[in-house]
Amino acid sequence: MKRKILLVEDEESIRKFTKINLEREGFEVLEAESGEIGVEIARRSTPDLVILDIMLPGIDGYEVCRIIRNEFPKIGIIMLTAKTQDVDKIIGLESGTDDYMVKPFNPTELILRIKSLIRRLDVAVKNEDEILDGPFTLDRYSRSFYKDGVEVELTPTELSIINLFMTNPGKAFARNEILDLIWGSDYIGDTKIVDVNIRRIRTKIEDNSSQPKYLETVWGIGYRWKQN
Ligand code: CA
Repeated sequence: MKRKILLVEDEESIRKFTKINLEREGFEVLEAESGEIGVEIARRSTPDLVILDIMLPGIDGYEVCRIIRNEFPKIGIIMLTAKTQDVDKIIGLESGTDDYMVKPFNPTELILRIKSLIRRLDVAVKNEDEILDGPFTLDRYSRSFYKDGVEVELTPTELSIINLFMTNPGKAFARNEILDLIWGSDYIGDTKIVDVNIRRIRTKIEDNSSQPKYLETVWGIGYRWKQN
């Protein structure tokens, strides 16, 4: 199955260049030159993932990200940013992005990031079973996660992390280990992105995210899923 990638970028030269590189890798590429058009195409064609420039005319990349996340929590999102932009804001709790790349970027690296994100999108496909643990149910076939029977909307990355923890209850994972297992050992980036994703998951699944009782901190090491 051809993966569908929506490319939202107002600079035509970057868009064309990126499109050529992605098509060469066998992806189907949809193009949008503004945020408004990007949202429209996302609604019409439901891509597997979105590559989203931050600086756009009209609504900016943050707003597009918020809209897409809100309507399609399971679409993967990679943000494109200029060097001067604040990385903490990009990967922050609010944004809901799965990854980001600083411009100018190397297309080979973008493709690695995309493949890494696709691995996260695919977490469920090979495992059709459900995992039950305390108030939680992870349905790996439909890629859905429930607390007390109510669906909790998780991004592909958050879902991959939950899957890792729920399949290894009680195991303490180091931040680096999580980075390797979820983003891939070829991922170039630091463990800050792990911490941000854990914080986001906690706000979604814990009764009180400042006193987590499911996704615990292992001081000096990383994190652990407490078996319920
Ligand atoms: Ca731009």
